Order: sequence, then C-alpha cells, then structure tokens
Amino acid sequence: MSENSKELHQFNAQVSKVLQLMIHSLYTNKDIFLRELISNASDACDKLRHLAITRPELAKDQPEFAITIVADKKNNRLTITDSGIGMDRDELIANLGTIAKSGTQEFLTQLSGDSKKDMPLIGQFGVGFYSSFMVADKVTVISAKAGDDKGWQWESEGTGEFTIEPAQDARRGTSITLHLKDDAKEYLDSFRLRHIVQAYSDHISFPISVIDDEGNAELANSASALWMRQKSEITQEQYKEFYHHVAHSPDEPWLTLHNKAKGKLEYTSLLFIPSLKPFDLFHPDRKRRVKLYVKRVFITDENVDLVPAYMRFLRGIVDSQDLPLNISRETLQHNPLLGKIRDSLVGRVLSELKKKAEADAAGYGAFWKNFGAVLKEGLCEAAAPREQILEACRFTSSATLEEHFTSLDAYVGRMKPGQEEIYYLTGERLEALRASPQLEGFAKRGIEVLLLTDHVDDFWVNVATDYKGKKFKSVTRADIKLDDVTGENKEEATPESKTEDADISALCARIKTILGDKVKDVRATDKLTTSAVCLAVEEGAMDIRLERFLLEQKQLQSATAKILEINPAHSIIRAITGKEEIDDVVWLLFDQARILEGEEITDPAAFTRRLQSFVEKSLAA
Ligand code: ADP
Repeated sequence: MSENSKELHQFNAQVSKVLQLMIHSLYTNKDIFLRELISNASDACDKLRHLAITRPELAKDQPEFAITIVADKKNNRLTITDSGIGMDRDELIANLGTIAKSGTQEFLTQLSGDSKKDMPLIGQFGVGFYSSFMVADKVTVISAKAGDDKGWQWESEGTGEFTIEPAQDARRGTSITLHLKDDAKEYLDSFRLRHIVQAYSDHISFPISVIDDEGNAELANSASALWMRQKSEITQEQYKEFYHHVAHSPDEPWLTLHNKAKGKLEYTSLLFIPSLKPFDLFHPDRKRRVKLYVKRVFITDENVDLVPAYMRFLRGIVDSQDLPLNISRETLQHNPLLGKIRDSLVGRVLSELKKKAEADAAGYGAFWKNFGAVLKEGLCEAAAPREQILEACRFTSSATLEEHFTSLDAYVGRMKPGQEEIYYLTGERLEALRASPQLEGFAKRGIEVLLLTDHVDDFWVNVATDYKGKKFKSVTRADIKLDDVTGENKEEATPESKTEDADISALCARIKTILGDKVKDVRATDKLTTSAVCLAVEEGAMDIRLERFLLEQKQLQSATAKILEINPAHSIIRAITGKEEIDDVVWLLFDQARILEGEEITDPAAFTRRLQSFVEKSLAA
C-alpha cells in the first residue's frame, strides 16, 4: 500500500461489539465520553513528560503539556487536543482498532443483549475511547508521535471499519474531532463543557481549557495533582473521579486511602480498593494498577511491583520524593527504595483493613467476598506479614450463617476448654462442606470448624501453620480425638467396654484385609455420629483436596491410600461386627466414603452391582 493512499481497515470483532453497545448507548450518562477522552489525553501527556526527562528533544517543539477542548458550533464539531506522546500509524491501528485489555473476551461473552441486565457489567468494564461514539456519528483522530515528522489521520463512523491516511500539518500529540449527533449538540455549549470538566476531570494535573466559538479560552480545572492537595480540601466526589481516572473503572471506590509518609521515606500515596471485582483479577496477563510518580512526574505503571501480587486489587498512585527522576524502568525494579515503599504500603493497607473490619463487619464482608481469595495468597509468601494478614482474614465456619464471616480472634474466643487447635475443612462448595460427615462429631460437641472453599486455602494452610500460637488443623486428620479435646469420656474402662474395643479392633483388621492396599489403615473414630465411615489422612500427610488438585494438574503421579475411619456406634458397623460375609458391605461403605470426599469410586461397575443387589434384597424383604 502506498505511503499516501487511504487505507481501509476492519475493526476486530471485539471492537465491533463494543461499538454496537456504544452506538445503542447503554450509558444513561453520556457526559462520561469527555472524561474518557481527557483521561487518555492526560495519560498521553504523562507518558511524554516522563520520556522527555531523558530525551528533552522530544518535547521541545511544544514545551507546554496541555489539553484543549474546542467547541465549533458552526460545523457541529467538538475537538479534544493534547500535546502528549501521540500515536504513529501502527499504534493508531493497534490502539483504536483492537481492544488489548485482558478479560475483554470474558466480558463480552457475559453480555446478554438485554440492556438492563448488561448495564452494570458495561459500567464495570469502562470502554475509553469508543465512548465517543455515544455522541458522535463520525470520529476523526489526527495524531503525530513525539519525535516523528509525520502525522496520521484515523477516521471512522463506528460501523465495522475505519480508514487511515497521512495527515498534513499535524502537530505533536493527538486531536480527536467528534462530529456530533443531532441529539448531542449540548456538548457545544462552553459553559456546559466547563461544568463537565470540573465535575469529572478537575484532578487532572495538566491544564484543560475550553475554547468557545469566539475563540475565548477559559481554564476549566485546577490543574494540580490531586494527591498533593490537603485531604481536607478534597471532596469525596473528587476522590471518586480520580479513582475513575486511574482505575479505568466507573464503580465507587470501596476504600480510599490517602497518605503522606514523612521522615526517612518520603512519599505520597493515594490508593483505592474497588467495590466491584475487576474482570481480570485472576487473568494471567492482568496488570498491576498502581502508578509510580516521582516528584509528580509519571514514571510507569508497568513492570513495577509497588504492591505485592496479593494486593493486586489496589488501584491508584504512589508519588516518591526520594527516587531519582531519571530512573529507568529497568533499574527501578532493583532499587531498594521500591521495596521499602512496598513494605510501608502493605503495612498501611493491612492496618486500614483491620480498622474497617472492626468498624463495619457487613461492609467488610463485601470487600472480603471480592478480594479475600487474593489477599490469602499473601499467606503463602514467606516475606509477607502473615499474622497481620491473618488478622484481616475472614472465614465462613460451621458456626456462622451463610452471609456472615468470623475473624480468627473471634474463633479463638469461642474455642472449647481444652481445644488447642483451629479446625478447618476445605472443599469446593460450602453446602457440601456443611453436610460433610467429617463435621458430625465436631458439631455434636459444639466445636467450631472453619469451612474453606477457595483454591488458595489448600495451599496456605500448609504454609501458615498457626495463628497466635494456635495451630491450624484439618478435621480430616486421623489423629484427632475429640473426646480428649472436650474432656468427655474420661471414665475408667469397664470389662464390657474392653471386649467392645477388642471386637472393633478385630473388625478394623478384617476390613483392612478386605480392602487391601486401597486403604492405608482402618481405625475407629469418635468424629462421626450419624455416618458410618469417612476418609482421613495422617498428620503431616497431604490434604485430600490438595492431593486431588495436584493430580489434576499432573504434578503428582498417583494418589496415596487414605485411612478409613469407622464409627463404632453406628448400626451398620455394629451389625457387621463379628459377622462372616461382609465383603460387599465393606466395599460399599468404602466407596461411599470416597464419594463424600469427592473422590472417584474404585470400580464403578462393581459398586453398581453391589448397590443393586442390596436394593433388590431390601425390596424383597
Ligand atoms: P484505555 O485508555 O482503557 O487503554 P482506550 O480505548 O481509551 O482504552 O484507548 C486505547 C489506547 O489508545 C490507549 O491505551 C492509548 O495507548 C491509546 N490512546 C488513546 N487516546 C490517546 C491519546 N490521546 N494519545 C495517545 N494515545 C492514546
């Protein structure tokens, strides 16, 4: 294709879908298109200001970083111009022709087509540039990349395709002209425009001017970095708008944390925790969303671990006084100051979470549901402040109702006299855990058990072994003697109980012979009440669910044999004690224990044959 001709490109499928949504505008509030375009313009200025520290020639042609909004009533056009970094031909095609955000695909497949249902979803996603098609039936972008001598023009009517061609006389930066729809003429009123800028973009640290038909320019924002202002001078509304800008997310911040650290380490941080769960929280190529500034100059938001992965729900900025301005992204990662800032931020966030949890348990529950599984990842990290994280953790337990959580301190406060350990059970679904036979004996004795359903739970319980001296212990461990915990059953053994014990020992040995190497051992337990059997593992052995997970991931070759625990008081166990023909019953009991634990049964055909024969017998009786 020749250098000067107009090229026609197709939008990729994802963009087309998003454009459809925009054109049939699901947003009730169209004003936000301006916020999105200003936000992009500000990011572009930020990027160039950083580059110009080491390459000043890039910004020499126009040393001012500024954003202007020109309302042209005569031609029905609104133009937003910035003197930022600009885009070259390939970037125009890539940035305005595809959507690079991780999680876009998932987002789009979740849309139902019913605008009422989709609205909150779209609100969460944030569509940036494409929102201009809510108010325009044609959009022209002219951009020249800093340092390039050529500019390019991108144009589209928002239907399937866009064109790209060389632009004459383009200045550094980007200018976006919206050919307004008939019902969007209100956006040519300069008073209205200034009002929108003030409402949504006051925090932008570059000057934003609105220029009317007569050419009068008026500054529309305060043009100072919001985070440098005193807390008392910032309204909730302004914090919220800043959050929308840095987080690219239109929900309300659940938590706003604005701090100035003084002394050895000097930095300002303005961090937010979203109230909605971002789409890419568990996506492999998700980005960290805390931007680094040095003395108010944006440095980077990529490849920098300002917050640890287990706090990747944080959004916002950190502005350091101590780091050198000309620090390169490559050397940044190894700068020891960065690690100190990170530790300091982690401490602040955790102590704020603790405060929030104590002040408003229900509100904290909302945070926990969104991000608890992420925060718990920190429990697996050796360098993380484990006890502080555990203090911020909340759990569902056998003593809490569906929607309620308990803290570990509250759990410890409810421990039975003689109980030394914090009991837990892990599994996929809460309902299945609540119904698990493993809990029967605990429930009977009023001993509380934490019910853990996140994947990360299988891991951290092996690493974070105790909380304030109380060890975590899975209820599936074979060595738990509940009567010892509660001090029951301490009476002397009678001659009858001694023969009973001998019978049960003989039965255990029999069962072991029948099941062979399918079980590690067979033992009597006081953990069960209404169930006859359950599976257990030795202290120190791998938890049943973790083992299954590792097998699925092919990180383990084969499963280990489990311990079968039997309930000596159960009618079936009593009925088979001392009997001869018990093989079928034993196999059925064993398979039943496996099913309850979510394990596959050993031989489905044999299982069905046995079950069928028992059903037939009981029907004939
Ligand atoms: P987002 O801003 O969420 O990444 P957008 O669709 O708004 O998504 O923009 C896509 C990309 O286009 C941006 O990430 C940026 O690289 C580029 N871009 C948009 N507007 C500008 C601008 N005014 N100057 C330079 N680049 C821009």
